[in-house]
Parts: sequence; structure tokens; C-alpha cells
Amino acid sequence: MNEVLDRKYGYLSNFFKTAIEENRLFHSVILYGSNNLIQYALALEIARQLNCLEDKREDCQCRNCRWIRENKHPAVMTISKIDNKTDSSKTVISEEQINIVLDTLINSSDYHRVFVFCDAEMKNLSDSEKQEYREFNNTGFKPPQSDDGEKFWYPKGINTNCFSPVAANAMLKSIEEPPSKVTFIFLTNDKDDLLQTIVSRSQAFYAADTKIIEYNTDFFAGYFSDYPNFNLQSALDFSSALLNYQTENEFEPEYILDCIQYYLVQLAKSNSNNKNLLSIIYRDIEKTQTAKKMIESYVKERTVYEDLAFYFGKR
Ligand SMILES: [Zn+2]
Repeated sequence: MNEVLDRKYGYLSNFFKTAIEENRLFHSVILYGSNNLIQYALALEIARQLNCLEDKREDCQCRNCRWIRENKHPAVMTISKIDNKTDSSKTVISEEQINIVLDTLINSSDYHRVFVFCDAEMKNLSDSEKQEYREFNNTGFKPPQSDDGEKFWYPKGINTNCFSPVAANAMLKSIEEPPSKVTFIFLTNDKDDLLQTIVSRSQAFYAADTKIIEYNTDFFAGYFSDYPNFNLQSALDFSSALLNYQTENEFEPEYILDCIQYYLVQLAKSNSNNKNLLSIIYRDIEKTQTAKKMIESYVKERTVYEDLAFYFGKR
């Protein structure tokens, strides 16, 4: 993917690259975390990978890549209270905007359409925001609106104040049964800022802020020595190992599951020529994503880990 994004979001960036290559990207994706500007660049990079007419390399000069970098691609739209507006509301993503989105979906398109939903404003940047902006500029993408020398377009996480339940609900059917080649991407600080009905129909990814998270995989790597085989006894031990490691270190279960996904992504990278193994790894990454959803729905960690271990152990 993109060098800046790889450095920032190495794990996610690889995950999306594989998902797009295997044509398995979810049609609704939530990126959550505090750095919405870099999330925005990641969303554009996903759009670029989906639409590139050549080999998707970072400096590709095909028409779609160029348009997306310039942020003027007709099929890649930013939807915020100040972007892609035809009505006079200034504080919300209006129902009219949602109708415009839905209208564009009636006709089929040669492009893979991507709608990036966020909050945004034109503002004077603080010093730390200027730093973020330099990083964003280094990704090679442009914001949807250019600055006037003082005020810069700046995205914020979407929430129920700017994206009302009425507007969000109008989207539900399309999120549930989208036409082919359509992806919705929501940028938010916290999943709880989005309507639960959207969250439950989407794949949510924590797009961490500037610090690089260390993923420890030592405490479970041994169980993967015969991967993709995983006998049932070791599956049981595996789930206990996860629970013990979590309890001893007072980690959140999401972190434990992130470590597993990180491990699987590394495994995918080192087996990138083995199509069969890749598709197993990919399914396991998705299953781990489902495990995160169970945690969000307050299923007990023990049950979640056992369910995951038995899934691995069943083959
Ligand atoms: Zn291209």
C-alpha cells in the first residue's frame, strides 16, 4: 500500500490489501480512533486500491489513481456536513444528502463506488494539527476542499449529532444489501458514536493513533506450529492460554484478538504465494473479527476464546 500508511497502520493496510485482492472486503467498514485525518487517507487508499486500472502500486498514474489522489474521482465521494451538499443545512449530514447517495446507486457503474462518511469543518489548524496535515500531505492524497491559506479542510469522527438516526436509518437497507461494487466507509472516534444498527452491519477496525502498538504473539505462537492444523486438545489449551495471558496482564480482550490477527497477517505475508493457505488464513482473520464482535456484544471472554479455538480446531 502507501508508505506513510504502512508505517502508521501496517497491520490494517495489509489486511485491506489482502481483502481487496481476494475480493472479500466488507461493503461497510468502520475505522475508529482519534486520528481522523490519517484514517481519511486510509479510506482514500482503499478507494484507490479498489479502482486502480493497473497494478495498484503507490505511484500508479492510471486515471483512477490520479483522480482519487486529487480527490476529484466521480465515484469516490466524501459525505460530511460540508461536503457534497445541495441543501442549506450546515450542522448535519442531511437526509437530502443521503438521498443523493442512494440515487447514485440506482444506476450501475464501471467504477467501484466508495462513500466516505465523516464530520468535517474548515478551520485554522493548531500546531499538532499542522503536523498531522503534513503527514496527510505525505500520503499523496488531497482533501476534498482546498485551503484558502488560513482555513483547512479537516475531518472529524462522525457521531449521532452530525449523522442523525433518521439519516443513518435511511442508509440501512443499502448497507445491508448494497449493489455490487459499493463500499461505505465510516470514520469515527468511537464505535459508540455510530448508530448500533450500522455498527452491527459493518466490519469495524481500530485505526490506532500515532504510536505503534506492539503485538505480542509469543504466548500463543506455539499452538500454530502445525498451522493450519490445530488439534482439539491444543485448541482447548489455546483458549486457556489466551484467557490466562489476558488476566495476568490485565489486557483488554480486543488486544488479545488483535495479537492473533496480527500474527495471521504476518503468516499471510510470508505465504503470499500459497493461495489455499491464504484463503484459510483469511477466513481465520475474519473469524477473529467475529470474535471481536462477540466481545462487543458482551459475550464472556472465555466463551469467545473457546468458540475461536474450536473453529481453528475443527479442521
Ligand atoms: Zn492505478
